[in-house]
Amino acid sequence: MADAAEVDRAVERAARAFPAWRAVAPGERARLLRRFAQVVEDHAEELARLEIANAGHTVGNARWEAGNVRDVLNFYSGAPERDHGKQIPVPGGVDVTFAEPLGVVGIIVPWNFPMVIMTWGVAPALAAGNTVIVKPAEWTPLTALRLAELALEAGLPEGVLQVVPGEGEVAGARLVEHPDVRKIVFTGSTEVGKLIGAKAAEQVKRVTLELGGKSANIVFADSDLDKAAASAPMAVFDNSGQDCCARSRILVERSVYDDFLARLSQAVREVRVGDPNDPASQMGPLVSAEHRERVASFVTQADVYAAGSCPTAPGYWFPPTVLAGSSSESFRRAFTEEIFGPVVSVVPFEDEADAVRIANDTAYGLSGSIWTRDVGRALRVARAVEAGNLSVNSHSSVRYWTPFGGFKQSGLGRELGPDALSAFTETKNVFISTE
Ligand code: NAD
Repeated sequence: MADAAEVDRAVERAARAFPAWRAVAPGERARLLRRFAQVVEDHAEELARLEIANAGHTVGNARWEAGNVRDVLNFYSGAPERDHGKQIPVPGGVDVTFAEPLGVVGIIVPWNFPMVIMTWGVAPALAAGNTVIVKPAEWTPLTALRLAELALEAGLPEGVLQVVPGEGEVAGARLVEHPDVRKIVFTGSTEVGKLIGAKAAEQVKRVTLELGGKSANIVFADSDLDKAAASAPMAVFDNSGQDCCARSRILVERSVYDDFLARLSQAVREVRVGDPNDPASQMGPLVSAEHRERVASFVTQADVYAAGSCPTAPGYWFPPTVLAGSSSESFRRAFTEEIFGPVVSVVPFEDEADAVRIANDTAYGLSGSIWTRDVGRALRVARAVEAGNLSVNSHSSVRYWTPFGGFKQSGLGRELGPDALSAFTETKNVFISTE
């Protein structure tokens, strides 16, 4: 657990490493990132096992996550050689823009997807020529520390990528305050994100904020109801619901509400909750006893419509749980607050306008899904829902090829996709007189 003085030393090392790293020729920086991706691939199973031990992810998920780290590094290894500026026609000379790296970038990571969320910041930040310090979450530092070792093994110079485990209020806060850290990428709760945004503003420090969510899964009567109901459980229970994009509110058109609930309950009972090391497990335990207590505090038995099962063996188990439309205060709380556990709330809606109104009746705006066979309606609703990442007749939201981020209090800025380097560079304009 690093204290503020240790963070200061890391910032000093990162600032010292910056001039040489930004001067590395683009093709060479690309080669180093590709080599980093290859070393990750060589250690993918080890990284997956570490994440299972540390965070309880299912083996299927943990292997996908290690593969995602490799893919994101590979994707952005193509970026240094394509980090173009513009040549803009002006009178009296030539005008060109440069994408300049920022310097030292701090990346503060939550515990729910430790290695992938770290990499979504690290890969484009390094590709753009910055040096990086990662502050992993208190509960889940292991894969971050291992990735920093693998970066060195791949040939990244000392000081270019450092990992500093520590408490948020100590190590994280120092990164935000340190004048030589030019940008903070923060993924975590909206509450802490607001604090960080305010602190960063004192120095006009650049920030990207990826915060909480309470995403809607909107099911219209004309949809493929079998598919919508069969896919709805894992759209919220994946990673035990510890997912900022979890579709934790299901909105169902009233004419098919009862039918949908019956099918959903059946699908929820079939979710296989068990030992994360067993490839058959779809859902593992929650991350900690403390978090399980928090999740349990949202569930009042009278609101429970259906629940799956979970092991009784030691572990922070919680069954997949469906709460259905009721007017109780406890249901309202579960329907509006981010639970970050395997609990989904279902309500009926009357028509398209009502669905959009309910979907947008939240301070969050991260993800969402729309199920309908009507293409026009799919597009209308997708444009009307205030969220950054929507999917039609599916639940996908995070693909490294495409931009990811939140509307409203779900965040500020975007990660991933073709433009991710713009969050790690400043545009410099240079005019050269020809007169
Ligand atoms: P958290 O806000 O408690 O902590 C996140 C990180 O911030 C941790 O590393 C923590 O140590 C650090 N931190 C805490 N206080 C700090 C401070 N004062 N200064 C600097 N750093 C500080 O969040 P969590 O519980 O780890 O993660 C769960 C939350 O993250 C959920 O709200 C979830 O929706 C959100 N999340 C968002 C996304 C996204 O992309 N939008 C992705 C994953 C998780």
